[in-house]
Amino acid sequence: MEDRESSKLDHYSSGTLEDRESSKLDHYSSGTLEDRESSKLDHYSSGRACSARGNEKNMDKQKIKKAVKMILEAIGENPDRQSLRKTPSRVAEMYEELFSGLSFPAPGGLLKVLPAEKNEGTVIVRNIPFYSMCEHHLLPFFGKAHIAYMPYKKVAGLSKFARLVDVIAARPQVQERITRQIASFIWESLQPRGIFVLIEATHFCMTMRGIKKDGSSVVTTCGKGIFANKKTQSGIISLMVHATYYKNDKSNKMG
Ligand SMILES: [Zn+2]
Repeated sequence: MEDRESSKLDHYSSGTLEDRESSKLDHYSSGTLEDRESSKLDHYSSGRACSARGNEKNMDKQKIKKAVKMILEAIGENPDRQSLRKTPSRVAEMYEELFSGLSFPAPGGLLKVLPAEKNEGTVIVRNIPFYSMCEHHLLPFFGKAHIAYMPYKKVAGLSKFARLVDVIAARPQVQERITRQIASFIWESLQPRGIFVLIEATHFCMTMRGIKKDGSSVVTTCGKGIFANKKTQSGIISLMVHATYYKNDKSNKMG
């Protein structure tokens, strides 16, 4: 599993590269697109994307504690055993964090909408790490999300996309729905010409149980507008995959 703090977001749009020292984002742009976010992506290091505004009080931690104790009893364990005694409350604390996205019923509002410059190119925010819980097995799945959109009249601060991914992932989920929801919320909030989301993830319910296919990953996509078309999608996917090669060549322009 990749360290959250060391992971980077790569952000590409058609044009030349500009370094943003104040941010962990690698931001490639035509020069017309400004980085509207000066703040660092500190919610990655804290792992509590939603604690600032989420209403965690809604979660019934007592009920979680009781349930975890019952599970321990049900599997034949002794919940009063020294090392297990605090497990129910630990799990309750942890669930409050892992499912904190539930207190954001409309996460699309997290995208701070700003007016777009004229002729914005395609913006790709790559390698957004996320962690979620499979709602079928309550086991983790995690991976990277890549978001591409072609703005029309609105754009959003770059770090807001990462926050949107965090909040959507922080609830019982399936990968297909995360992919669809990210695309839909951006589609509704920014009304872009096109949006395309690609997610690659590893599921513990596939690797540590059942078929036990270690190293397998699942790729899901969702495209809308001009990126609903398979032909335009393939261009975007190749940029998502190959843009790394342009990273160290500032003179290189991407079309
Ligand atoms: Zn599962």
